Amino acid sequence: MTHPPRQGPSTRCVWGGEPEYSPEGATVPPIFHGVTYAYDDMEAWRAAGAGEGPGYIYSRNRNPTVELLEEKVRALEGAEAATSFSTGMAAVSGALYTFLSSGDRVVSIRDSYGGTGKIFTTFLPRFGVQVTLCETDDHAGLVEEIRKGCRLVYLESPTNPTLKVLDLATLAAEARQVGALTVVDNTFATPINQRPLELGADLVVYSATKFLGGHSDAMGGLLVGRKELVDAAFHFREIHGASLDPMSAFLLARGLRTLELRVGRHNENAMAVARFLREHPGVAQVFYPGLPDHPGHEVARRQMSGFGGVLSFSLAGGPELVDPFLGALRLAHRAASLGSVATLVGPPATTSHVELSLQERAALGIPEALIRYSTGIENAEDLVADLGQALEHVA
Ligand SMILES: *Cc1c(COP(=O)(O)O)cnc(C)c1O
Repeated sequence: MTHPPRQGPSTRCVWGGEPEYSPEGATVPPIFHGVTYAYDDMEAWRAAGAGEGPGYIYSRNRNPTVELLEEKVRALEGAEAATSFSTGMAAVSGALYTFLSSGDRVVSIRDSYGGTGKIFTTFLPRFGVQVTLCETDDHAGLVEEIRKGCRLVYLESPTNPTLKVLDLATLAAEARQVGALTVVDNTFATPINQRPLELGADLVVYSATKFLGGHSDAMGGLLVGRKELVDAAFHFREIHGASLDPMSAFLLARGLRTLELRVGRHNENAMAVARFLREHPGVAQVFYPGLPDHPGHEVARRQMSGFGGVLSFSLAGGPELVDPFLGALRLAHRAASLGSVATLVGPPATTSHVELSLQERAALGIPEALIRYSTGIENAEDLVADLGQALEHVA
């Protein structure tokens, strides 16, 4: 079904991609686990295989349940096209390897997601791609490097784990000037809080494992943008094989239907927690773009409609207090990942940035004592009370 673009985000999440005909009128379409699709008419089979007629061939290429999810995300983003991957990292690497060739140059930031950073430092250079990673908060430096010419500008905002904010519209405009593609990892913000395509980006990438799915029970990645670009990335994925499986697609689509409701609560909870922590004597520093004294606050206010569910903070008492503090929390899983209905907490040194060495983390300004806190959808008063008792426990 196609829907007018002016419908609200939740309407698009609920109705986007839903088939006109669902077997037996089932209001939730069945999961298509079948890997292959049969044809009696050889010409129809040939046409489907050549992409000239309707129908599915083989689930590494296309699958109805996977397409339901893709269409929901496409509609939500108001984009021309969307394709999916087995994980967020498959979407990130798919975007990079689809559009970069030997001899190309890519400009990005030092604070990108840990796995993405590893592609930049260890894999792309092996294929003759020149990678320039800029200080994330050095806007002028980023502009300068883009102006030297490049094929692709890869951005992420807010960043992991200190929630730095990039001016996406300005950087995308600079990239366009030199004929470069702008790819934005929008995992932290979600399409509810930030829409990079409207700010001039060419492609948006998501780890759907986080907020889009929202329940920490399925992995997936999405790539959204102009049709010709998404088609190229789809072709890379169908050949390289990091296709999303239908069960995960079903779970992610189920989670996506409540995205706007959840993100609204995540935004409120993170703001309440950030305000509480900032006033608390046991806390040294709070990183959250919703706080007026955060260096990225003004840009975030311009380009985001909510500040997201993730924040980080450091304890005034130093790194020795991290373990006992985490141990005292009752309403948080001490676990990797973010964007779940349940609060997830951990030191970036052992989660998102575990791929980096101690020296690399220090260079990124990530204190070893930093705690990343991804608020769930619990009630804010309960999260604040839990943090309060844990801070008292280590005081
Ligand atoms: C988790 C994450 C990824 C990787 O996604 P996976 O689904 O774990 O492969 C990429 N970017 C960001 C910002 C993430 O948080």
